Amino acid sequence: MITAKARAVDGPDKLFRSAEIKRRDLVSHDVLIEIKYAGICHSDIHTAHGEWGPVNYPLVPGHEIAGIVTEVGSEVTKYRVGDRVGVGCMVDSCGECENCRKGEEQYCLKGNVPTYAGVDKYGEPTQGGYSTHIVVTEDFVVKIPDNIELDVAAPLLCAGITTYSPLNRWGADPDKKVAVVGMGGLGHMAIKIAHAMGAEVTVLSQTLKKKDDGLQFGADHYYATSEPETFEKLAGHFDLIINTVSAAIDMDAYFALLNLDGTLVNVGAPGEPLSLNVMSLIGHRRSFAGSMIGGIRETQEMLDFCAKHNIVPKIEVISADQIDEAYKRVLASDVKYRFVIDISTM
Ligand code: NAP
Ligand code: ZN
Repeated sequence: MITAKARAVDGPDKLFRSAEIKRRDLVSHDVLIEIKYAGICHSDIHTAHGEWGPVNYPLVPGHEIAGIVTEVGSEVTKYRVGDRVGVGCMVDSCGECENCRKGEEQYCLKGNVPTYAGVDKYGEPTQGGYSTHIVVTEDFVVKIPDNIELDVAAPLLCAGITTYSPLNRWGADPDKKVAVVGMGGLGHMAIKIAHAMGAEVTVLSQTLKKKDDGLQFGADHYYATSEPETFEKLAGHFDLIINTVSAAIDMDAYFALLNLDGTLVNVGAPGEPLSLNVMSLIGHRRSFAGSMIGGIRETQEMLDFCAKHNIVPKIEVISADQIDEAYKRVLASDVKYRFVIDISTM
């Protein structure tokens, strides 16, 4: 067994504490990664607070992991010691079902193994990236391109792929008008990626406080959703809306912003149900869709796309002692635009 230092939480209302966790000894296709940086995703907060259902504590969150390979199993072919690598939201899947064979491991019919709060094929609970080391089978490790620093690479492993995948699937190309709702971790990546894909990008944020940043990220337009005129002005305007909001919002108000055949893709995952009036969809043959992260092949494609277009998140690096404070700020929509833990402070 390998011992790793970590930050764990013991319950929905508890603060983070130092912990030691065990990582399995490497089996044939495993890679040992020394974690350098781990991003804080709002999903970490939903999970730590038990908003998505019961959790087995202690919990070590973290699924935006960037680090260096320090050891490889006997049959590893893809990675060598010293490689710069990333791990995202899942660490395994059955590998055999229809969806896995298509490279959509996130939709594994037997359920993917999440990086934390899951159970691996050895029956052990998985623990995430707020820790110094992790052992992952090589098929769930991706290569970080040379021109992306590890600190900014980390958020690409969840915020990057979760927005790249629907923008790619629903074709955010130059003749599309795309809106991004919520400009936090996912939202600011969605702006950068949609802009690089050539779409006309509009941000719908609660206020105009972050407008200058939004325009700098590549948005063409920026509106405050607290102003009712926004919804009048933009009625029927968008081909695609990516909703990244972590709370339940008035879906009908946003459906009304879609044009004929427009689609709203929800990537935000609030714990409480969303309600809608189906008339908002029927009227203009609109679609309401969901999307979960992306497959491993697509994650590598996203990293290469970001490397090519010089896209990285805007981050605030924090020490391991600042996790609780960072959670509070994320919950207050006071994140610019992703907190990343410097694991050397663990
Ligand atoms: P985040 O950094 O907290 O960003 C969410 C943004 O939503 C906030 O910055 C804020 O933007 C807006 N917002 C928050 N509360 C709001 C409210 N009550 N009403 C209106 N707008 C509000 O979170 P994140 O890490 O980007 O994650 C966003 C959501 O996506 C979370 O629910 C997370 O669990 C989910 N997620 C899903 C996947 C997936 O695979 N589908 C993957 C990762 C994360 P403004 O200040 O600009 O309004
Ligand atoms: Zn995430």
